[in-house]
Amino acid sequence: MNKSALAILTTVALTTVAPSPSMADGDVNIYSYRQPFLIEPLLDRFTEETGIQANIIFATQGLEARIKAEGENTPADLLLSTDVGRLEAAKRQDIAQPVQSEVLEQNIPANFRDKDDQWFGLTTRARVVYASNERVDLDTITYEDLADPKWKGRLCTRSGQHDYSIGLFASMIAHKGEEVTKTWLEGLKANLARRPTGNDRAQVKAIYAGECDLALGNTYYMGIMQTNENEPEQQEWAKSVRILFPNSEGRGTHVNISGMLLTKHAPNKDNAIKLMEFLSSAEAQKLYAEGNYEYPVLGTVEPSEIVKSWGDFKPDPISLNEIADQRKAASELVDVVDFDAGAN
Ligand code: FE
Repeated sequence: MNKSALAILTTVALTTVAPSPSMADGDVNIYSYRQPFLIEPLLDRFTEETGIQANIIFATQGLEARIKAEGENTPADLLLSTDVGRLEAAKRQDIAQPVQSEVLEQNIPANFRDKDDQWFGLTTRARVVYASNERVDLDTITYEDLADPKWKGRLCTRSGQHDYSIGLFASMIAHKGEEVTKTWLEGLKANLARRPTGNDRAQVKAIYAGECDLALGNTYYMGIMQTNENEPEQQEWAKSVRILFPNSEGRGTHVNISGMLLTKHAPNKDNAIKLMEFLSSAEAQKLYAEGNYEYPVLGTVEPSEIVKSWGDFKPDPISLNEIADQRKAASELVDVVDFDAGAN
């Protein structure tokens, strides 16, 4: 490794939880927003099967800027990230390059891949409604229903500007247009029990505490709460709710992805593409999706038993490319309706 790369790695290591690995040529090097516990078992299997050493640096922020700053000297071959918003933003920062691979095309449905082949989905998660077991007597719901005045003072959600919210709001624009979405957001806002605050699990906690009856959240948090032995109170939060898959009987429930991209100046491109293909394979898809209570993108692989226990649903088949294109408009609407101020 050259001197400048080493200096940069030292800086990266400050934000990592794992000790800084050496990132050698001839290996494959990964910058990851996905946690090591999830990725390391996959990399171990990859190394066993191919003999290629895989090194990972984990951080919670700043990896795109770092890849950009490192430029042609970057040791990073792959970026593992979550949310089409972040993947698309990375593409627009010009830190990715296209990958033409028949394996990826076969394993990853087109709606979960960049139209220019610069990012690829690996797992999906649905943005669902968490409903109070005690106070909500419904089997089905739609996103549109959440704006009905009958839910006044009963809805909780995180910030409207969070990537997860923007993804959902952008999907509404893609299906219904900006005017309808603006009216819908005003309805949602009017039904809020409190100002949007906290993460997805905090909304479930609020239902448990009786502050609201319905909340928006991602599916995998149910699995994380249900199995959380370090924080058993989260298991109680989970028991107070059930998942409703909005619009599952209509256009489908909004889903987003976690995914990957090949960096523009990847020093180990061939190895990196081998790893990308491995991550889309049945073996890796099973491990990956199970590890974080997500859904595999590869249709032949079943989700875990815990995930299946939440029920079947129809995912919205719209291309995430179309959703990515509406993110800016969605973000502007959140400001226009002053969503994060909460109900008056
Ligand atoms: Fe999350």
